[in-house]
Amino acid sequence: MAKVTVRNPRTGIKDYSFENFSYEKLKHHSNNLRHGNVAWRNATIEQRVATMQEWKTALEKNKEAIIAALIIDTGRKWETVLEVDLIIKSIDRWCGIAKDFFQPIAQKDSSIPFIKLQQSLVAYELVGVIAPWNFPLLLALIDTIPALLAGCSVLVKPSEVTPRFIPKMEAIINAIPALTNTLSFIAGDGITGAAMVEECDLICFTGSTATGKKVYDAASKRMIPVFLELGGKDPAIVLDGAHIDLASSSILWGSTANAGQSCLSIERVYVQDTIYDAFVKTIVEKAASITYNANNLEEGFIGPIIFEKQATIIDTHLKDAIEKGATVAYGNTACEIINGGFYCKPTILTNVNHTMLVMQEETFGPIIPIMKFTTKEQAIGLANGTIYGLSGAVFAKTNEEALALAQYIDGGAISINDCALTAVMHEGEKNSFKLSGIGGTRMGPNAIKRFMRQKVFIIKDQEIESPWWYKKI
Ligand code: NAD
Repeated sequence: MAKVTVRNPRTGIKDYSFENFSYEKLKHHSNNLRHGNVAWRNATIEQRVATMQEWKTALEKNKEAIIAALIIDTGRKWETVLEVDLIIKSIDRWCGIAKDFFQPIAQKDSSIPFIKLQQSLVAYELVGVIAPWNFPLLLALIDTIPALLAGCSVLVKPSEVTPRFIPKMEAIINAIPALTNTLSFIAGDGITGAAMVEECDLICFTGSTATGKKVYDAASKRMIPVFLELGGKDPAIVLDGAHIDLASSSILWGSTANAGQSCLSIERVYVQDTIYDAFVKTIVEKAASITYNANNLEEGFIGPIIFEKQATIIDTHLKDAIEKGATVAYGNTACEIINGGFYCKPTILTNVNHTMLVMQEETFGPIIPIMKFTTKEQAIGLANGTIYGLSGAVFAKTNEEALALAQYIDGGAISINDCALTAVMHEGEKNSFKLSGIGGTRMGPNAIKRFMRQKVFIIKDQEIESPWWYKKI
């Protein structure tokens, strides 16, 4: 069985490895999960909530160990603490939503007087969750929690780039009898991910648009539902009248937090010509204080680029932009290597245009290209001028003005007078636009519905002949 080696993002040393999950092992796990699903889906919602609470307590008890593993996986600290807190806390929110959702459904009259309708919901037996490396725990659990509450068994495969937290998760699950045959974490790469698409009844995939297309293709052959949460190239628009100090602080955070390795990072900034110079001057001044954590994990704001190949993409985008005339107003012309890790400063590019990769393709790094516009129509055209439509932000003097423009932006979540708010606010419902994904909302109360099929019992409640039957037989 092939061993997968894993690079430490802070040292560049391949200091961890795991056995790639074989198809036979996957089959064995999925059989166990299908077997365990009978008791899980037949449990009451109160029983499922009680198990989820037991799991939450165990996660809290083991929080330090989970955080320690994730820090080695990702090379960063404050984002990891935020990630772990956010996802553990979300268990309570989902339990509340599930309790409301699973209220008994009363039988209803229909338009035919002697026919009643009884609606019900049937959970998919086995959900496969395939996750990326940028927020390894959060993105492994964001769909898993509502799927479990819906009554599904769940098989989770985190990214092969960040697998060190998996044994900890397995140990926690194995100590909770009701979860042992209901939830499994497996370590594997794309081959294992592809095998999951052949094995599960529904797939929640978070990752790149390129891999998402492969998953969509494979799932279509089996006609199973897939929820694809893919790449982004989120724009921020700053209109004349916006609070320049607040907007620049927000955009600096939204584009460089987690070293820009977030699907919802601001990757393009469009500023109205009347305030352009003042905005660039302000954000350049602030960028200098966003330092690396390279020499001390506890200090600084920016960790290493987690995935080596991503550093190459960042370098390619910077080189292409500079060759096509971009100016580096602050930052790097390429990632720097410190202690074996790849680091990139908040890098502010001016004189950019839409022929550049950095304005078209996902960079996934702390790069802030800023472009000038004159009219709102121009800003909308530029913001919508990529293949992506994940999220975005609009800054204006008033929320009303920002909202008026925001309705024209291609994206399922537009932050108003702040940016990247879906990082912290998961209660609104949203869909991805264009090549940023497909499928029902993963956030908000309706997200739970994705894991269930609707079923209706159509009940005749009078002993009579139905008027549409053959007559006199
Ligand atoms: P990736 O597409 O390379 O990998 C994602 C996952 O898919 C990994 O677990 C990988 O092992 C697996 N995989 C690879 N090939 C597969 C196949 N053929 N079939 C099934 N699974 C396969 O993405 P990545 O580099 O890990 O993550 C970064 C990407 O994720 C970025 O594009 C980012 O925007 C996106 N992302 C999106 C969201 C969102 O909510 N929209 C959130 C976070 C990250």
